[in-house]
Amino acid sequence: MTRAVVLLSGGLDSTTTLAQAIDDGCEVTAISFRYGQRHTRELKSAEDVCAHYGVDHVVIDLNLSMFRSALTRDDLDVPMDREGELSEEIPITYVPARNIIFLSIAAGLCESVDADRIYIGANVVDYSGYPDCRPEFFEAYENMIAKGTKAGVEGNPIRIMTPIIDLSKADIVRLGKKLGAPLHLSWSCYNGGDLACGHCDSCRLRLKGFEEAGYKDEIGYE
Ligand SMILES: [Zn+2]
Repeated sequence: MTRAVVLLSGGLDSTTTLAQAIDDGCEVTAISFRYGQRHTRELKSAEDVCAHYGVDHVVIDLNLSMFRSALTRDDLDVPMDREGELSEEIPITYVPARNIIFLSIAAGLCESVDADRIYIGANVVDYSGYPDCRPEFFEAYENMIAKGTKAGVEGNPIRIMTPIIDLSKADIVRLGKKLGAPLHLSWSCYNGGDLACGHCDSCRLRLKGFEEAGYKDEIGYE
């Protein structure tokens, strides 16, 4: 059986990506990061999703709290009900080099558990603003880890799988539903709390995706 490491934030996209890895026949180890994000509500969701599937879950502590991002610093506000197109500029919710850092650790975990694939729920359609979510980034990264890991040098390079990279949010919801992913356990809101805010970029994209796909989002909103 193929082993895979799945980057799991606990959001809609990574939950659907994990469901896809399982559907692809992989034995999964999920990895999440406590990186100094302003709330850890999403980590609870990641835990719940892993429990749902009965897969191993590794949580890595990394303190990125001094990185300049609205997701890591209390003095920077998460944009709410942002005007205009969401994808026009790189938003303040971008965490500097986050996927570069997370993928490095995932590659190390791959070598440690003999996995030969990393699944990541990156997406360019609704969020073309994030440079580390683009296909050319993943292609370059795959080449880099092939050259910089024992697995790569020995002829078993780690592949980076991006199954939802060009899907719309509605298509991600449809795929998640088709795969039976526990989307009701996922958490997308940039703000913590018991209920999602419904107004941050992430909530708005999620709500729009469910609406367009014709499904009800079963998580609670303020
Ligand atoms: Zn929100």
